[in-house]
Amino acid sequence: MSFEKLGVIKPLLSAIKDLGYEKPTTIQTRAIPLILAKSDVFATAQTGTGKTAAFGLGMLQRLRKTSDDKQRALRGLVIAPTRELSIQIYEDLQSYAKNMGINIAVLVGGKDLESQQKILKEGVDIVIATPGRVLEHVDKGLSLSHVEIFVLDEADRMLDMGFMKEIRRIHPILPKRHQTLLFSATFSDKVRKLSKLILTKPAFIET
Ligand code: AMP
Repeated sequence: MSFEKLGVIKPLLSAIKDLGYEKPTTIQTRAIPLILAKSDVFATAQTGTGKTAAFGLGMLQRLRKTSDDKQRALRGLVIAPTRELSIQIYEDLQSYAKNMGINIAVLVGGKDLESQQKILKEGVDIVIATPGRVLEHVDKGLSLSHVEIFVLDEADRMLDMGFMKEIRRIHPILPKRHQTLLFSATFSDKVRKLSKLILTKPAFIET
């Protein structure tokens, strides 16, 4: 398999070539076409399988800008259990998006809200955040009403850390029609229950 055969667009192909990725991993081969087809996805994938690029490349391609598309709105939201993982996802997505003119922000605790709000005001297309921090911004006026893709990374860990309450608050303020990608290391009962709540006719990927 190749990234070209998966239908990945040129700006992303050249970015991943610069990173030395030669061919897609199993999770990428299976997830990218589903993401591009706008399907909800429920995937089990461990760290190290290339899961970040699987949802990252799919999401960036879906949210790419056309030439008459100058408006910025928050169209992609990724939530992750920890500050460290959020920053890792942010850095990976930045490196994939370097040729695309897409603005990405990371919102995690430990940085002041005001400086993050300033970044949001300048216009961002994609936010990576911990669940509590994104809700703090929602309470201060961040709109999620244009989100087209909602990604939950390490969902089992988020639930183990007690983030169900936050996820239950975020989900209803997203637009009715959006695509959800749920990544989890395990198919635990808790994750299954969450998937029933937030996914619509998901494609399953077990790796
Ligand atoms: P992840 O599972 O997202 O934590 O990714 C694990 C590591 O694999 C990261 O350092 C990625 O940069 C790298 N990686 C992701 N996809 C590929 C690929 N197709 N070829 C080579 N390395 C990759």
